[in-house]
Amino acid sequence: MPKKKPDPSEPSESIATRLSVKCRYCGQKNAVRSDYKAHDANCGKCKLPLSDAPRKTFEDLDKNEYIHPADAKAMAALKAIPGVDSALKKLLAWTGESAIRVMFTASAVKVTPKQCPDLHAKLEAVCASLGVEVPDLFVQQNPIVNAFTGGVEKPIIVLHSALIERLNDEETFAVIAHEVGHIHAEHVLYLTAARLMEFLLNRSVAALLPGAEIIKLIVSMGIASALLAWARRAELSCDRAALLVTQDPDVIGRTMMKLAGGTFASKIDYEEFLAQGREFKKNYDASSLDRFWADVTNAGLTHPFPIWRVAEALEWAQTEQYKRLTGV
Ligand SMILES: [Zn+2]
Ligand SMILES: [Zn+2]
Repeated sequence: MPKKKPDPSEPSESIATRLSVKCRYCGQKNAVRSDYKAHDANCGKCKLPLSDAPRKTFEDLDKNEYIHPADAKAMAALKAIPGVDSALKKLLAWTGESAIRVMFTASAVKVTPKQCPDLHAKLEAVCASLGVEVPDLFVQQNPIVNAFTGGVEKPIIVLHSALIERLNDEETFAVIAHEVGHIHAEHVLYLTAARLMEFLLNRSVAALLPGAEIIKLIVSMGIASALLAWARRAELSCDRAALLVTQDPDVIGRTMMKLAGGTFASKIDYEEFLAQGREFKKNYDASSLDRFWADVTNAGLTHPFPIWRVAEALEWAQTEQYKRLTGV
């Protein structure tokens, strides 16, 4: 348990009187000074702002309670393609789960209670919130601010080093919650297939690989485009899962701002950023032309626009559905 060094400038009686505050995220009991105020200190275990305020958890959450309608619609379109499941199974069998796992255990740092313990504590807190079995988590050296979840039977989550370096503890917690959301929403198999398709479609060597026939089949059946269209919309559902875990729309908003603005984010006005998101959403709803261009541009990105995502997430935080789920 962390103990603060006595501050000689403080009167001795305030140091002598210590309180214990149980972290609302990880349950760790933290010794604090008698003049402690919620959020002024960070939990010694998960490093999130310390508070014992009640927090809603969702052990029996039905994914349909938060799945974004655009995700549900795109998934229905994908599943309506005859033979989609067997084609994707063939694609995934070609690479296999072991290849994904071996790649990360060989190249990335595995997060454990002893390795990056605060990240592990965040992961455990997220999984307890959503009622999900704790997956393996890796940190990989990568300058692109990103994270992903993959696997076939056993999902793994990978956080890029640049993401952890750039985000604060609450924002990192939100990203882990988004990734665990993919597991809770049962996205992992399709998401892994989508990532694999993107990887192969972007490489001219794909035609020479042993799985070339199945790749051609998947493209010709229209599965590849339906899969990639769904994968972008699936992000919107997992931003909602992250909202349910953090229960703070501004943490999601600030995370998106850093994803959009990179290191420049410290100079960006948060309120203006939110206004830009609302403006985007208004045009997106109103104009089919905007929708068309957003989709076209989106097709080249792994994740949809951060501006769009923040608008969607903050709008959902105002709905009765969100308020009912979180009890706010
Ligand atoms: Zn904690
Ligand atoms: Zn995602």
